[in-house]
Amino acid sequence: MSDAQHPDLSALSRATVAVTAGRPERVQGGPVNPPVVLSSTYVSAGVPQPGELLYTRNGTETWQPFEQALGALEGARLPALVLGSGMAAIAATLSLLPAGARVVVPRHAYQMSLALVADLQERTGLRLTAVDIADTEAVLTAVRGTGDDGADGGRAAMLWVESPTNPMLEVADLPALVAGARAVGALVAVDNTFATPLGQRPLSHGADVVVHSVTKYLAGHSDVVLGAVLTDDTALHARLTAYRTLHGAIAGPWEVWLALRGLRTLALRVERSQANAATIAARLAAHPVVAEVRHPSLTTDPGHERATRLLDGYGSILGVRPHGGPDVADAVVRAVRLWLPATSLGGVESSLERRRRFPTESLTVPQDLLRLSVGIEDVEDLWADLDQALHAAASCAEHPGGSAAPA
Ligand code: PLP
Repeated sequence: MSDAQHPDLSALSRATVAVTAGRPERVQGGPVNPPVVLSSTYVSAGVPQPGELLYTRNGTETWQPFEQALGALEGARLPALVLGSGMAAIAATLSLLPAGARVVVPRHAYQMSLALVADLQERTGLRLTAVDIADTEAVLTAVRGTGDDGADGGRAAMLWVESPTNPMLEVADLPALVAGARAVGALVAVDNTFATPLGQRPLSHGADVVVHSVTKYLAGHSDVVLGAVLTDDTALHARLTAYRTLHGAIAGPWEVWLALRGLRTLALRVERSQANAATIAARLAAHPVVAEVRHPSLTTDPGHERATRLLDGYGSILGVRPHGGPDVADAVVRAVRLWLPATSLGGVESSLERRRRFPTESLTVPQDLLRLSVGIEDVEDLWADLDQALHAAASCAEHPGGSAAPA
């Protein structure tokens, strides 16, 4: 928006947009931050007018500044739609599929996204084909339905993309996938949680829908659970809005206000955590207790070339496989003192977990894979703690009776 009161956001860098978008009108004595409005209903009589605030499940002014700001960050023509969680945003997007349709999904993706697709397959006849999202040819063959697997014949209605994937960090060739999928009329939905709008803007490549777990980097402080969905298509926007209203998949006003507050520092947090992650990845690659590290910043990483070409930044999630298998990985989690043993990611604090501790995680994710979410702490403090935990875990494996606690 550009008028006498607001700067032209399209002329500003993303870091500035994150700080600037969604502010109230500049009026003498007015607040610089939007207020939280706690009201389930609005004064209203007669035939409701388009856009009129009526009832908070339909819409509330406390959502709007966040929705404008995220829309501007993603370069969307329409505001984002905020929902009660990332999963609510994913469910809303999958609701766009007609009955019996086929969806192509990454074999590695957020485990609950895959669980929801599997649930829909069982209950509604949705058909799914799982692919290696980094293998562009295989993905597009699956989308076209021209593979020789027979069972999955017929064009897919939707291609679901995560890039980088959770937790394997595969990087997709997003522009090629969007072009190929749209050429055969498939909708392309991109979960942009890992990359954030600072890393990639899928709508600019022609993707139809972008979803976010706002819980992660956008809110950034591990204190809210929220989701968002974006599209440039007015008809899809209307359907997604109707889904939110009809399913009651709405966000609370306090959470949305906190998410906007978190969004203001997105660029600083992402810059710092990415730098920390790259430093730690390089050191882990040379660590005697570590068998394998995945981070697209490493020149040896399978996603390095693509990430360098397509992403602004390599992200702050690492995949680490210690020597000695899952028991050693579990011992690392027990031995850290600064890093938090916890699920989730994208907060200011660093955390880690062994992903296959969840029976629902994809079976092709290695049993010993630790997923690290690198935060904004001092990198030397993070390294000292991780290094001692790796050594403690390794020595515990060598001396099974001993304790993994640091000396
Ligand atoms: N997408 C990705 C990539 C995630 O990692 C997650 C959660 O971990 C989700 C979606 C789901 O988001 P939420 O937990 O906010 O429902």
